[in-house]
Amino acid sequence: MEPSHVGRYSDAEIERRTMEILSGAFPEGIEIPIDIDRLVYQHNSIDDIVPAELLEDKFKVAAVLISKSNGHFDILVDEDTLDSHYARANFSIAHEFGHVVLHCQICRDCRTVEDAIALNTRIKNAYNFIERNANYFAGAILMPLRTLPEDTAKIYEALVRSFGWDINLIPDKVCSTLARRYEVSIQPMAIRLKELSLNRKIEDALRCRAPYLDP
Ligand SMILES: [Zn+2]
Repeated sequence: MEPSHVGRYSDAEIERRTMEILSGAFPEGIEIPIDIDRLVYQHNSIDDIVPAELLEDKFKVAAVLISKSNGHFDILVDEDTLDSHYARANFSIAHEFGHVVLHCQICRDCRTVEDAIALNTRIKNAYNFIERNANYFAGAILMPLRTLPEDTAKIYEALVRSFGWDINLIPDKVCSTLARRYEVSIQPMAIRLKELSLNRKIEDALRCRAPYLDP
């Protein structure tokens, strides 16, 4: 299938899809950090997460999706990233998982790493919405709408109690504390806080010296 035929998803639709997956995996309540490997292995179109030597060095990507003759997918992840950079590995696995859930049709022809890289390049050049959708999916599944606002409020409250309403300090500290808790890098956490308007909420609360974030 051509990338031009791939559906575009709204952020709300992706939130709904990720929530469905999370609710199915965590009927008793979502456990943070999200065990993305477990979610991936529960999906019936994905067989395996496979460490791939020098993927990053050779192709400048941390992960790719490979389509198999049985109709399923493997997610190949750069071995060094998988071993030593878990936050980056988590996001890359979640991003490829997003491609399977949202647009597996276009990944069907990717039988080799070279195929996958060629498709990536085409998508990045002309169909960047596909990448944006997969990135949004990764953020939404690793930093769920159902848990992140509440955790942000708790961390805000504790930090303000220790450090006061320092607007040059608290927003970054909230973000880095959350990033550690959710086992993601700082940048995707900062993006997710923006997507959910939590960064604005934090700044507003600091300006009016509020001890709590409004629910
Ligand atoms: Zn991608």
